[in-house]
Amino acid sequence: MSNNTQEILDLYKASVMPTYSPSVVISSGKGVTVRDVDNRPFYDFTSGIGVHNIGYGNGRVVEAVQGQAARLTHCSNLFVNEPAARLAAKLVALSGLDGKVFFCNSGAEANEAAIKLARKWGAANGGRYEIVTMRQGFHGRTLATVAATGQAWCQQDYDPLPTGFAYADYNDLESVKSAITDKTVAVMLEAVQGEGGVTPATPEFIEGVRALCDERNLLMICDEVQCGMGRTGTWFAWQGYNVKPDLFTLAKSLADGIPMGALVSNAKLADVFTPGSHASTFGGNPVAAAAALAVISVIEDEKLLQRANEVGALFREALQSFVDKYEKVLEVRGKGMMLGLVIDGDPKAVVDALRDQSLLALTAGGNVVRFLPPLVLNESDLEDAVDMISEALDTVFG
Ligand SMILES: *Cc1c(COP(=O)(O)O)cnc(C)c1O
Repeated sequence: MSNNTQEILDLYKASVMPTYSPSVVISSGKGVTVRDVDNRPFYDFTSGIGVHNIGYGNGRVVEAVQGQAARLTHCSNLFVNEPAARLAAKLVALSGLDGKVFFCNSGAEANEAAIKLARKWGAANGGRYEIVTMRQGFHGRTLATVAATGQAWCQQDYDPLPTGFAYADYNDLESVKSAITDKTVAVMLEAVQGEGGVTPATPEFIEGVRALCDERNLLMICDEVQCGMGRTGTWFAWQGYNVKPDLFTLAKSLADGIPMGALVSNAKLADVFTPGSHASTFGGNPVAAAAALAVISVIEDEKLLQRANEVGALFREALQSFVDKYEKVLEVRGKGMMLGLVIDGDPKAVVDALRDQSLLALTAGGNVVRFLPPLVLNESDLEDAVDMISEALDTVFG
């Protein structure tokens, strides 16, 4: 490790609370590659954890951010800014839900907004408040979203948590049915689970949840914070199924790293929030909104939904060859450019070996190596990356 990296890591460790344990100090990024402070390149197959779907350093985002920063970096929500209005209209159009948008700053905050909106609607519809979420799901780190997440590792030591959540098993419709009571107002899930293990919903399950919600007058909420914005080959992962949620949330990839979250509703829920009933100072920030508008244009103009499908299929094929080759590599999971390798053992060992090969990847669900490459990945970079993955797997399992 060089002096640059060591000095900054020492500073960081002395002064930043240890909620993560990072070992690479990143100073720049372009396309699918980041560089550390010693100018060493890495393929970033985390996309900054699902953020840089369009790759790092896209010129149109840089220009949009610089231009907007020079004009206006903030105005309160007592006034309107044009990028936020245009972005809301664009998200509504892309969703096809005919509803409206609430803007905030993160995935957890978007999910909080979804939970509050569902409760507000439930208060007027039978006094119902309980939300059924999936045991392997992930919805964020605020108290309410930790309660929604329903996993012991993220709830431990934070009692008392907000109540009003019940848990069901993902891809098990009977389990969702039995979690529903006369107090249930909504079912909340990811169409493709990220942190929980890169698991896509089966069509029967997600369509069954929709039918169940219709039958029992419940809201269906999709958390698209990780699987949204083209990641799985459609704008929103739920669009890969024959369902329409009542509400869905976005954040991570929405504004290419400028913090932004959004809750998108259908027509029925468009006016449940009224003046004063919910708020966020920075929600709809004009710099973030300008960045998000640029992100959407890039995805459209560079046909990145199609690329996510095409390059994702090639990547999946390559990963499948490792399942065939190594006894301890069990299965490929995921959709589009959201892919996981299920490992018999600790995925951390593989992620560390990948980093030594100069490729950044993530773990998920305790036994999965998770890959979220930028959707702009081309075939030749993919080939390089697959060689690195091959080397790393050889080191760990060879
Ligand atoms: C990351 C994530 C969140 C939390 O988003 P933050 O911006 O970190 O609050 C919520 N849901 C899902 C599915 C996520 O992947």
